[in-house]
Amino acid sequence: MAEIGFIGLGIMGSGMVANLAAAGHHVTVWNRTTAKAEAMASDAISVAGTPAEVASVNDIVMVCVSDSGDVEAVVFGKDGVADGLREGSLLIDHSTISPSATVGFARRVNDVGAHWLDAPISGGSEGAKNGTLSIMIGGDGAQVTRAMPFLEAVGGTITHVGEQGAGQLVKAVNQILVVVNQLAASEALMLAEAGGLDLNKTLDAVSGGAAGSWMLSNRGPQMIKRDWRPGFTIDLQQKDLRIVLKAADELGVPLPGTALVFQMYRALQAQGLGSEGNHALVKALEDLAGFELAASDDDG
Ligand code: NAP
Repeated sequence: MAEIGFIGLGIMGSGMVANLAAAGHHVTVWNRTTAKAEAMASDAISVAGTPAEVASVNDIVMVCVSDSGDVEAVVFGKDGVADGLREGSLLIDHSTISPSATVGFARRVNDVGAHWLDAPISGGSEGAKNGTLSIMIGGDGAQVTRAMPFLEAVGGTITHVGEQGAGQLVKAVNQILVVVNQLAASEALMLAEAGGLDLNKTLDAVSGGAAGSWMLSNRGPQMIKRDWRPGFTIDLQQKDLRIVLKAADELGVPLPGTALVFQMYRALQAQGLGSEGNHALVKALEDLAGFELAASDDDG
């Protein structure tokens, strides 16, 4: 039974820890809200008092918290992971955070002789629960190999994409594709609605061709049912788009489509819709158009 530490038992972290334990590993966990950690305790899962304690009893520690400042807090704050790192320790950050902040954090960890992999994830709560996450990894290849038994317990597609920070940059690329595809699905269905088309037949007709996408196939049917339950909330999507737009600003790259979607989501947040799924983007177009998608099919 191999030993690993894990910090952050949110929607994603709790599923990943369950899969690490199911794969036969012993996991030492810490979560800011202690009750969530205690609820997971078992023979295979021990609860530590601080992030430093997790790092002091494990050579490899995974982290999955919300944003750049939160990673900084659990790694470099009081009783943080950094206080327990030793020469040769490995920290794997699964959070989606800023690529440039990542490079700075990695350097500080490398300065004490420890290693850092940025390994953001994609695949939603379903992927975390089923152990099928896509993991995009930046950092040293030898450390990726060392981490592989643990990564394979939580992920289905594991890709080493480059040096430290590259994993987070690929995740930013991923999020551009997610939101611009969402805008395309929204505009397409609004035109179909305005033209009086049968929306289900329209989806059937276009999903298998060159216009098809994961977003259209998975969220299109939800939009037609006006089912706004989240796979990924607008609020978390906006956190990621802030990261994307900051990286684009730093690199001097214009991203007009992504910037437009960011403003549309901001309008929806101002209406109190931040906890709805990111496919509720179509509601911003409905406000502009003055009619609703699939209004006659509204099942509440
Ligand atoms: P979540 O359910 O909101 O959980 C966030 C976790 O981070 C909780 O354990 C929380 O502790 C902890 N945390 C946040 N700020 C902290 C701080 N300052 N100090 C200590 N702990 C802190 O979020 P999630 O959905 O698991 O997402 C985690 C990461 O994965 C995010 O970067 C997210 O963008 C990314 N991600 C999420 C999805 C998804 O579909 N949900 C998909 C891909 C990637 P408490 O329990 O005490 O609040």
